[in-house]
Amino acid sequence: MATPKKITNSPYPMVDVDKALNTVLTKCETLALELIDMKTDGPESFLDRVLAEDVRSVENLPPFPASMMDGYAVVAKDGKGTFDVCGSATAGSEPIVTYMASGSVVYITTGAPMPKGTDAVVPIEDTEEIEGHRVVVKKAVRAGQWVRPIGSDVRAGDTVLDKHTVISATEVGLLACVGATRVKVYKRPTLAVFSTGDELVQPWESLRGGKIRDSNRPMLCSAAVSAGAIVRSYGIVKDQEVPLKELMMSALNESDIIVTSGGVSMGSLDLVKPLLEEIGNVHFGRMCMKPGKPTTFATVVSEKDGRTKLIFGLPGNPVSCMVVFRLLVDPAIKALSGIPLVACHHSRVHARLKMPLTLDPKRPEYHRAHLSWRETLGSPGEFIATSTGVQQSSRLLSMRSSTALLCLPSGTGTLKNGAVVPALLLGSQIPPPERVTPHMDGYTLHGASDASLGKDLGKNTVPHGEPSCPCCKIHGKSTTSNSIHVKDPPRYGGSFVHPKSTVLRVGILTVSDRASRGVYGDLGGPEIMTCLADHISSLWETDYRVVGDEKNVIEASLCDFADRTNCNLVITTGGTGPSLRDVTPDATMAVCDRIFPGFGERMRQISGTYVPTAILSRQVVGTRGQCLIVNLPGSPSSIRQILPEIFEPLAHMLFLLNASKIVLTKTLDTPLNVRASDFIVDVVNKKWIDEKLEKFGNGTITAVVEKVLDVVKEREADENSVFTIARGCGRKKAKTSISLSLSPGYLAYLKRMQMKYNIADIQKTLRIILDFALEGDEGGEVHGIF
Ligand code: AMP
Ligand code: MG
Repeated sequence: MATPKKITNSPYPMVDVDKALNTVLTKCETLALELIDMKTDGPESFLDRVLAEDVRSVENLPPFPASMMDGYAVVAKDGKGTFDVCGSATAGSEPIVTYMASGSVVYITTGAPMPKGTDAVVPIEDTEEIEGHRVVVKKAVRAGQWVRPIGSDVRAGDTVLDKHTVISATEVGLLACVGATRVKVYKRPTLAVFSTGDELVQPWESLRGGKIRDSNRPMLCSAAVSAGAIVRSYGIVKDQEVPLKELMMSALNESDIIVTSGGVSMGSLDLVKPLLEEIGNVHFGRMCMKPGKPTTFATVVSEKDGRTKLIFGLPGNPVSCMVVFRLLVDPAIKALSGIPLVACHHSRVHARLKMPLTLDPKRPEYHRAHLSWRETLGSPGEFIATSTGVQQSSRLLSMRSSTALLCLPSGTGTLKNGAVVPALLLGSQIPPPERVTPHMDGYTLHGASDASLGKDLGKNTVPHGEPSCPCCKIHGKSTTSNSIHVKDPPRYGGSFVHPKSTVLRVGILTVSDRASRGVYGDLGGPEIMTCLADHISSLWETDYRVVGDEKNVIEASLCDFADRTNCNLVITTGGTGPSLRDVTPDATMAVCDRIFPGFGERMRQISGTYVPTAILSRQVVGTRGQCLIVNLPGSPSSIRQILPEIFEPLAHMLFLLNASKIVLTKTLDTPLNVRASDFIVDVVNKKWIDEKLEKFGNGTITAVVEKVLDVVKEREADENSVFTIARGCGRKKAKTSISLSLSPGYLAYLKRMQMKYNIADIQKTLRIILDFALEGDEGGEVHGIF
């Protein structure tokens, strides 16, 4: 073996991962076959083995025409009527009646052979036993009805399992079913693992003097067992040529695959590469990937049997080591075990990034991530990828709970959150859905959204095949809210992508006993969605649930939103009042680690400008980790009053919590800057206000205007007619100014309407409203204002 020299440039070219995997797979030779026997080895010994032969059934199943029901075997053409029961046929025995003529019936159980002469079974529920051995057949059956013909499950000669099938529980059942209990399978590869490094001690030893624990070997052994190999652990070997070579040679004698870790980099004590050069054929010594660059792959042809042994020299850093094991060794174990090469590759899906990821300028990166399946209304669903955090190759925590490797290309810059990247699934499990909605369990997404949004309430129109909610039975329930019509609010929105922004994920939790039981459709949740759509122009999406006023259920939902479905913001509606069932703030305080009392006060202040009872609301705002939780009252009008005014502090807080920018469509600071004397109204408006003041003898102009605004604000149904239909008859009217000191809530309302209906300014917005009041008075139409 050549004496290692310090080298600064690696002589090994960097090979692409795909090419490297191809090289590995082409060197894989399937192993010899062995016979396993269900009777002596047990059925569990079949699990995960790969069939080395096709399995056929030599018999028909069922081997006789069998009854599918408990009932009476009949001659179908006899039809309905009263018949003598001339015998019985039960599962597992020959029929007592060997031939039955027309005019009588035979009692039969499920799975029993049909007596000769009978051609159908009448289920027991369609018959009535009468005195003696007689029975009334109340429903006629067709010939063949409720009978499984011979070979209808499996026909003699049918292939029930193909060569190369991986045997799982169902396959074990099939083998048993056709009696194929001795089958040929491929032998499992034997895989040797050892770690190299002077610094390594056993995992159970304490650390001193520059030592670290050998984490790679236990990890690789476990990974190899789960991949289907028989594992031999060869311990730790020092960075010394002789012991390393000795261990390698004895491992080669006893194994099909050898996996080492450490000693493949460019240090003076990295001895694995030179050893592999000496004893075998090195196919590559560097891979173009991050992490795992120094990975080395060699083969040695055994002098004993001429078989090709595979040697993987994995890097020492635990993450690199594990990532490369997944990318190269996993597929090799499969290939040797008899799995066809095409099926040895990891499943590849596409996933949408939940956060921005910076690219490596030189090498493609296999970024560890957790995938979950997200269902969003109106889209077929997609995988969402959440990074496992700092990706340093020594930080094994970056592999913890990772279910996928994101394949990031090399390049400059950053992939934005929301970008779609290929992802290799680690393991065969399909990632679970991102959202669980306990209330909606067993409920289709479409059904859930429609029902919970109050659509179709009271019409009893259950779309065919769409289950109604198992707990609220909303579709079937008569309701007092027949008149409520809620248009589908948007469940997600925004189009503006800010370089610093991620998708804002908002958990919406409606807390209401009655809405959760389906007594009425929830209006709060949809109102919040509408507000989000009106005010946020960067990307946002919602996760929406309706629960009853149960503290533990509210707590669980909040934790689920914050911890599992990764909401940045949770808005609750309902359950904030003083009644004993109102426990949303208590649940919020129980799950939050910090409370922001000023925020709650501000919200009460805002609603206080509308209703004096606002002081009774116990709304709380707090954070759980990086998730901000905000309580709103239950009434849609208070949501409309409060939410638009708190978007700015909300956005600021979310920025500080998540360092992610939320771009608001409209800022609401303008109205607060409007000076009272700025209000310009039409002279006719002013005259109308003066008339009202005169009529009532006291009050202020502001009070009159606020009264008008109250009425318009409360009349959501009229909003459209106020601001679009009745608006702007085109007359040029003389203007005058009035002195108003509207409180912030009213100013905010004017601003919101101005934005919503695209009106030039809030002066004009107020004129439109006053026109509406005036015209109502003139036309005799009672607006109910005064
Ligand atoms: P190497 O590939 O030998 O240069 O090692 C690279 C890094 O991985 C060094 O920091 C080693 O201490 C560490 N390392 C090597 N082998 C192991 C192992 N078996 N378990 C944990 N860390 C290791
Ligand atoms: Mg080393």
